[in-house]
Amino acid sequence: MDWFAKQLLTWFDQHGRKDLPWQQDINPYRVWVSEIMLQQTQVATVIDYYQRFMQRFPDVETLARAPLDDVLHLWTGLGYYARARNLHKTAQAIVEQLDGHFPETQPELEALPGIGRSTAGAIRAISMHQQATILDGNVKRVLTRFHAVAGYPGKTDVAKQLWQQADRHTPKKRTADFTQAIMDLGATLCTRRKPECPACPLAARCSARISNSVADYPASKPKVAKPVREARFFVLSLTNKATLLEQKPLNGLWGGLWTPPERDRSTSADTFLTELQISPAQIERQHVAPVFRHTFTHFHLDIEPVYITLSTLPDGYVGEDTQRWVNPEHINGENQAIGLSAPAVKLLASLKEPFTS
Ligand code: SF4
Repeated sequence: MDWFAKQLLTWFDQHGRKDLPWQQDINPYRVWVSEIMLQQTQVATVIDYYQRFMQRFPDVETLARAPLDDVLHLWTGLGYYARARNLHKTAQAIVEQLDGHFPETQPELEALPGIGRSTAGAIRAISMHQQATILDGNVKRVLTRFHAVAGYPGKTDVAKQLWQQADRHTPKKRTADFTQAIMDLGATLCTRRKPECPACPLAARCSARISNSVADYPASKPKVAKPVREARFFVLSLTNKATLLEQKPLNGLWGGLWTPPERDRSTSADTFLTELQISPAQIERQHVAPVFRHTFTHFHLDIEPVYITLSTLPDGYVGEDTQRWVNPEHINGENQAIGLSAPAVKLLASLKEPFTS
């Protein structure tokens, strides 16, 4: 075991966190779900989501059998929804093709949707006690600083160097503890801003600290200006508060989530209602609200909300299968467990405010 691993394990025994929900009753399923939730999301945010998820889906069979809507519902607010869709798809593959058992080799795990090299390594190391390596965001930060690795860690050549270092430091014994320890160090001491180097067990040999250049690592992602797209979201309500939501196709943005109908920025309220086979004459009131911005990884979406209230629906009105009238106040109820896009959460919340026209 090298100096790096020894230092980390000694520190972990004294100071590491051992009471996180995914550190209890460890099994491949629980580790897998925690690893997926922790991608792009901080521990403090994940804890509640994880506990609710485990309560509803305590094992891979329950998750596989659940409707996707229920899974997306429990993911609402965590973002990066492809993670939830892949969890569901992978659970079904494990139950249907593998008799409910997680595979135990790196290539077999990586063949499952949404499981990359690091997640597969974490499942093997933490729940199967195999010698396997992880390289999540926390670990990348620790290693770029400790070894003063220049360049953005998302670049192939930089990632390759980091994987080599991670492999080199991962011990044969106590691999599970080492894996928890290095993630913990990144989450608690070697944080993105204001790392606590004086308390760090690696400080004596940390290149960035020794050269007083901690702030230079890891290098930021090269900036590319994001394009801006525009859309209108129609918040169509009945006076009894039922509001129309549409489900997004599974393979696009917000796949499987529900959102107020999104149309081109140039779509008028009349055109939209005509499309739904509702006469514009039934508009009781309407109001165009200020544009707000939702930012995706690759672009900004400027959203102009158009609030429309109708007194009733026309006789014989039949909506599409992908449309649903929901009462925002009952959205968490048993029969309205659906996943919502972030703008949907915001726009439905706005309905609780007095309507100004
Ligand atoms: S000494 Fe500071 S920069 Fe280096 S690994 Fe420890 S916390 Fe991170």
